[in-house]
Amino acid sequence: MWRELWSRALLTCAIGACSILGDFGLRYGKSESARALFDNATHATVGGLTWTLIVVLSRKSVVRNLKSILSCFLLASFIDLDHFIAARSWHIHDATHLPKRPFLHCTTVPIVLWILFISLSYTFHSLLLEHISWVMLAAFLSHHIRDGTRRGLWFCPFGSTCPIPYYLYVSLCMFLPYILHLLMSLHIFPPRDKNIILIDV
Ligand SMILES: [Zn+2]
Repeated sequence: MWRELWSRALLTCAIGACSILGDFGLRYGKSESARALFDNATHATVGGLTWTLIVVLSRKSVVRNLKSILSCFLLASFIDLDHFIAARSWHIHDATHLPKRPFLHCTTVPIVLWILFISLSYTFHSLLLEHISWVMLAAFLSHHIRDGTRRGLWFCPFGSTCPIPYYLYVSLCMFLPYILHLLMSLHIFPPRDKNIILIDV
């Protein structure tokens, strides 16, 4: 019980600390590439920690769920590849000086993908698709909330919100796993097989 509470508190604080530390690196990094690298490593770490906390909240083994933690870590990092795709260049300067935000930074994308994957998982009774839908949503939202403190959340084609106030953004990053875990446990699309589990025991 205490061990569980400790790991939850530790992971929640780690998400907040990692976000703040990442912002320092972004502000004081020596070169453009060092700043971009530090920022991307922060996105990946926050993504990995977000899914780790979801696993802990589900009272499942972190070791048995390392694959999904790694998937969330990598996906949260790969989202920034769209900068290079939109710039059609591998140069960091081109990728970070785009006239508009690249497509994977539109929050409508993960919402639509989540609806699609969760509907498909229900149609085909696929636990894997349901699992993918949540890992993908966690990776995208953790990334978008972090970017949102600089540029707001972008819901194309409807527009963008104002930049998220700094402490609200840190709190949102820290509480995102709790919100997602709650939504997961609601089973909006209940599986037909009642015995299936989303996260490995
Ligand atoms: Zn980004």
